[in-house]
Amino acid sequence: MNTQISEQLFQKAQTLIPGGVNSPVRAFKAVGGNPLFIKSAKGAYLFDEDGNKYIELINSWGPMIIGHAHELIEKAVSDAIQNGFSYGAPTRREVEIAELIVSMVPSVEKVRLVNSGTEATMAAIRVARGYTGKDKIIKFEGCYHGHGDSFLIAAGSGAITLGVPDSPGVTKGVANDTLTAPFNDLEAVQTLIEANKGNIACIILEPVVGNMGLVIPKDGFLQGLRQLCDKEGIVLIFDEVMTGFRLSKGGYQERTGIIPDLTTMGKIIGGGMPVGAYGGKKEIMDRVAPAGPIYQAGTLSGNPIATAAGKAMLTYLNEHPEVYTRLEEAGNTLTAGIRSNMQKLGLNYTLNQVGSMFTLFFTEKPVNNFDDAKTSDTQRFGQYFQAMLKRGIYLAPSQYEAMFISTALTDEHINTIVEANYESLKEII
Ligand code: PMP
Repeated sequence: MNTQISEQLFQKAQTLIPGGVNSPVRAFKAVGGNPLFIKSAKGAYLFDEDGNKYIELINSWGPMIIGHAHELIEKAVSDAIQNGFSYGAPTRREVEIAELIVSMVPSVEKVRLVNSGTEATMAAIRVARGYTGKDKIIKFEGCYHGHGDSFLIAAGSGAITLGVPDSPGVTKGVANDTLTAPFNDLEAVQTLIEANKGNIACIILEPVVGNMGLVIPKDGFLQGLRQLCDKEGIVLIFDEVMTGFRLSKGGYQERTGIIPDLTTMGKIIGGGMPVGAYGGKKEIMDRVAPAGPIYQAGTLSGNPIATAAGKAMLTYLNEHPEVYTRLEEAGNTLTAGIRSNMQKLGLNYTLNQVGSMFTLFFTEKPVNNFDDAKTSDTQRFGQYFQAMLKRGIYLAPSQYEAMFISTALTDEHINTIVEANYESLKEII
C-alpha cells in the first residue's frame, strides 16, 4: 500500500497543528503507524490522498448512517447554499427540524440546536444545575461526553486512548463537582447519592456506551437510574450523541421505553455538518434563555446549511423505517461472521453489539464496564487494525471505540469484511 502523500502531509501537519490532527484519535497513536489523509468519500468507501480505497466502519464516527455523499443530503446542501451561508437570525428550517426532532425523540418536548456534541452536553449539565439549584453531577467511568471540563474525569474515547483521562487544565474545583461510578453498577450510584444527599443535579450517561468500546446496559440498570432520579429529584440525561437516530429513529430511549428528562444529540442530526442539540421536558427547557435565566447561545447555532443537511437526514430516517431493519440485519450478519471466524480459529474474544454498533474486544472477559474494557490487549488490537487496513478495511483506530455500520454497506461488503477479519485474526495470533 503506497501512502507516500499521506506521510508527507502528516510530516507537514505536525509542524502546524498539534500532533498533526484536529482531534486526537485521528493520529493513529493507539495503533501505530501514521494517519491516512482522506481526499474523498462515497457510499461505503473512503479514498485517501494516495488513491487507496477502503471499505470503512467509522462513518465519520457515526454521522454518515446512510453512507457518504448521499444524493439527498448533497442536494439539500447545494440548494441551501444558493441562499447565503449564515444570518444569525431565526429561519423556517430551524422550526422544521425542531418539529422533526420532537416528533422522533420520545423525551424531547423542546429542543435547542448547538454546533457539536460537546456543546450539547456542556449546556445540558448547566441547565440541569440551573433547574435543580444543585452543583454536583454523576457520570460513569469510560463514558465520553465531549471535551467539556466537567467530563474529562475518567473519560473514554480519545482520553483513555492517549492515557490522559484527567486532563491538565481542568481545575480541582470542577473535578470535585464530577462524581464517577462504574457503568452498570446501580449500588455505586446509590452510595454516591447517599454520600452527597441533596447536592446532585444530574446523572449523565451514554445509555449504550460507545466510548469505551461498545458496552451494553444490563437489564434493570437504566430503569434503576430512572427510579433513583425520580426519587431524589435528580435530572436524568441520556447522551445520545452516538446512539440517537441510530439505534432506532428515536434513539436508545425509544428502544427501551426508558425516558430521560434531557437528551443530548449530535452526529447524525447534522447529516455530516457540525450540529448538536439538547432537549427534553418543556418545564426544564423553558428555563433556557431567553425563555428563562439559564444562559446558552451560539453565533452559528441553527446555521442554514447545517440545518439543511440535518433536516434532509432526519426526514429520510423518519420516513424510511426499513433503514433500521437493514442496519440491524447488517450488524447481525457482520458480527455472526466474526463470531464464526473466531470459532474456527479457537478464539474467544468478547464481541459486543447493538444493532449497527459493535466492538471486538481483545479480551476473553465479558465487558460490562470500563475496568473490563481495560483488560483488552491493546497491542493486539493495534496489530489487528493494521492487518485489516492492509486488506482495505478501515476501522476506528482504537480498541476503545465502537464501529458504525451504514446502509451503504452491502452484503458483498460485509462478506469482504468478514473474510478480511478471518485473515487478519489468523495473521496476528
Ligand atoms: N457525547 C458522546 C456520547 C460522544 O460520542 C461524543 C463524540 N464522540 C460527544 C458527546 C462529543 O461530540 P463532539 O465530538 O461533536 O463534540
